[in-house]
Amino acid sequence: MGLDEDSLDYHRQEPPGKLEISTTKPTNTQRDLSLAYSPGVAAPCREIRDDPDEAYSYTAKGNMVGVVSNGTAVLGLGDIGAQASKPVMEGKGVLFKRFADIDVFDIELDQDDPDEFIRSVAAMEPTFGGVNLEDIKAPECFQIEEELREQMDIPVFHDDQHGTAIISGAALLNACEITGKDISELDIVFSGAGASALATARFYVSLGADRERITMCDSSGIITQERADAGEVNEYKREFATAREGGDLADAMTDADVFVGLSIGGLVDEAMVQSMADDPIIFAMANPDPEIPYPDAKAARDDTVIMATGRSDYPNQVNNVLGFPFIFRGALDVRATEINEEMKRAAAQALADLARQDVPDAVVKAYGDQPLQFGPEYLIPKPLDPRVLFEVAPAVAQAAVDSGCARKELDVEQYVERLEA
Ligand code: NAP
Ligand code: MG
Repeated sequence: MGLDEDSLDYHRQEPPGKLEISTTKPTNTQRDLSLAYSPGVAAPCREIRDDPDEAYSYTAKGNMVGVVSNGTAVLGLGDIGAQASKPVMEGKGVLFKRFADIDVFDIELDQDDPDEFIRSVAAMEPTFGGVNLEDIKAPECFQIEEELREQMDIPVFHDDQHGTAIISGAALLNACEITGKDISELDIVFSGAGASALATARFYVSLGADRERITMCDSSGIITQERADAGEVNEYKREFATAREGGDLADAMTDADVFVGLSIGGLVDEAMVQSMADDPIIFAMANPDPEIPYPDAKAARDDTVIMATGRSDYPNQVNNVLGFPFIFRGALDVRATEINEEMKRAAAQALADLARQDVPDAVVKAYGDQPLQFGPEYLIPKPLDPRVLFEVAPAVAQAAVDSGCARKELDVEQYVERLEA
């Protein structure tokens, strides 16, 4: 377990943890300090009292995201509690900083009751330009996000739901491009009906998939109208209950164009892949082990199998870091009041478009000289590709403006220049 030991070492090096606060203004003289704090600080306070939007001019609010969790669904570790989730939330802060220069306060709330949790987070609105909800278990996560989005005038985004949806959505758009399939005519099977699967299914519909052609399976098999009527599934799964006959995952996958796995490893075998339609699209995203290993799915058939997983050791890694830093960057920079459907679609489209461009040599080098050229083995850009920031953040910012949720004007050319500087 070299990785575990190394990670413990990494975290415990002085100072322990991964984040610290630093100051951004001079603090050398008595004068500096009386500007930073009392009595000078009263001046910006009065400005903000008279116009709350001035918080964006005089405080760090506009570049500050709260990464908030109650620790109820942490990585694959389950409900380990708020305190034990702190390394993950600090880690999320590291990624926000590294990829989009966004500052994070990680907030671990010892609160499993959804209503109390909502109250606590809503009360923190003055501190943040946006809130990234993290590792909160289903189905509570749906209610929590829905109500906070309603109550708060800043973006609230549950990354475990929408991150996967957006990035695999980009991969789906490009899989359609490569196979010549029309998204509205895809028969799509989901394995899993939790936080990420439900959000991903909703987002695919938003991208043009036909809700009637989606079949969702949970641990008891196909979610049918019959099961829904019998009260066997929660209200969120009910949204995707199908009129088709019941059965198991193998029944659902027969003749399907797309398999989306957001469940657990090892549920799919080669025969199930062979039963799918021509040139099947397989996104097996359970972590750490996908629903079917990459090589097994590829070997199952002679036609083109378009495959993505959550793993970094195979092509097409669906990794949330390709989304949240850049989506929040764009949203913060126009002071968006939310991250809405238009902004999410813009992010997915920008990622899909970028993957169709030639990849700079420096990026190819950073990924060990593997060939990165648009096709079945390269559906979505790589997170270390600096162009992702310059493409996704402006697309999201523009969509915020166009959909009427931006509080600030945008000159997109100037904005891209600023990002590139
Ligand atoms: P979740 O909310 O706990 O949902 C898990 C779902 O899997 C549940 O609907 C559960 O069914 C279903 N399931 C469990 N065992 C099953 C079985 N034997 N057959 C069929 N379905 C089964 O978890 P989540 O946050 O959505 O994450 C699900 C998986 O996706 C995890 O492995 C996670 O690591 C992975 N994931 C990957 C990415 C990525 O980017 N690669 C992103 C997000 C999530 P019941 O509803 O019946 O319990
Ligand atoms: Mg997470």
